[in-house]
Amino acid sequence: MLELIRCARAVVGGEERRDFAFVVSDGGIADVGDFAAMRARHPQTETRSFPPDRIVVPGFVNGHSHAYQILLRGRADDLSFERWRNNALYRVIPQLEPEDVYWVFVTAFSEMLAAGITTVAEFFYLNGAGNAHAEAAIRAAAVTGIRLVFARTWMDAPGAPEAFRETVAQAEERTRALRAAFPNANICIAPHSLHGASEEMLRAAAAFAREERCDLHIHVAEAESEVELSRERYGDAPVVALDRLGVLDERTVAIHALHLTEEEEEVLADRRVRVVRCPSTNLYLGDGITGLSALLRRGVVVGLGTDANVKPSLLDEVRLAAYLEKGTRRDGAAFKAATALALGTSEGARALNLRAGELAPGMLADFLVLGAGGIDPWSPPVNALVYRGERAWIQAAFVGGRRVYTGELSPLAREAESELARIARRCV
Ligand SMILES: [Zn+2]
Repeated sequence: MLELIRCARAVVGGEERRDFAFVVSDGGIADVGDFAAMRARHPQTETRSFPPDRIVVPGFVNGHSHAYQILLRGRADDLSFERWRNNALYRVIPQLEPEDVYWVFVTAFSEMLAAGITTVAEFFYLNGAGNAHAEAAIRAAAVTGIRLVFARTWMDAPGAPEAFRETVAQAEERTRALRAAFPNANICIAPHSLHGASEEMLRAAAAFAREERCDLHIHVAEAESEVELSRERYGDAPVVALDRLGVLDERTVAIHALHLTEEEEEVLADRRVRVVRCPSTNLYLGDGITGLSALLRRGVVVGLGTDANVKPSLLDEVRLAAYLEKGTRRDGAAFKAATALALGTSEGARALNLRAGELAPGMLADFLVLGAGGIDPWSPPVNALVYRGERAWIQAAFVGGRRVYTGELSPLAREAESELARIARRCV
């Protein structure tokens, strides 16, 4: 069905447009332009209009999330990375049954939609007992309506919980089975990291991604301890080591890529690796601060992710990315609001190999409707969103042209919240 969406105000290509319209067809954007021209070009098409005090913007793209980590909120704060991982993450998450995963993910995905996140790349590592947990997570995305990129983790590090670990053969076989069971889902693979996956597993994952033509997500250089481990185990810095193992090419999405040498930045650019940065998690876990400009200058595509989901908000990630860049370079002119917003929308979509994050022909019809009441009338909406944007401004979210958030939590999301409280009490 065709639908003409009329927007009194919209953000297009990082700038405001007045009386703008676009045609939604089969979940995608087929045509865009001024409303009068669009009305003339598509005379039979039904029109949906938003009131003049609303602004339509592209939906946010969350390039990296572990949804179940919402269970750690408030009880794993203020720990070192090692203690957070070993004493909280490794203790709580393995207790989840598939049914728990479903409710935890419905809660997390509902929160994300309310925060304007229309796509999430979920890096999912509860695969030790088979695919039942992964299937529950994929069902949760479908029922909430969020667009899901499912990065199915491969992990075999001896130190990790059994609930996360698989042999290479199990990971291959189960990933194939999952892709076959959900042919319409976007399922790629995610060998955990240099410390979470063995050399054999990393090489097998790279071969699998080539053979199956799917993306490969991997944590890279998140903490300085990983750099040390890489030098000890492989004799090189993480990016150089991964390159030698054949892991890096245009299918690779490097998560974090925080502690890099200039040589490593160059390798990422040469291999056309995409990067997802997670500023709030890197700060929360004390993993470090590094600038983005060097990667962007080299032409690397960079998106943003909410990772540990202490507060799943791309508005926060976008703002932090801009502030950190200005602060580390000691230059308020170092980063523009429109560049920051693009990291959370159009560039984030490119990082996931999706045609989304822009109100342009050929893109997925994923967009938000904002109440303009909180935006100063003299302020460009992009600047307002990046520097002052609030979740409360988001009045509706559409995925593939379908309204999936209406400004308040759905009955399902409320049910999930009470289930979550029960699960949290049990998993101590
Ligand atoms: Zn992560």
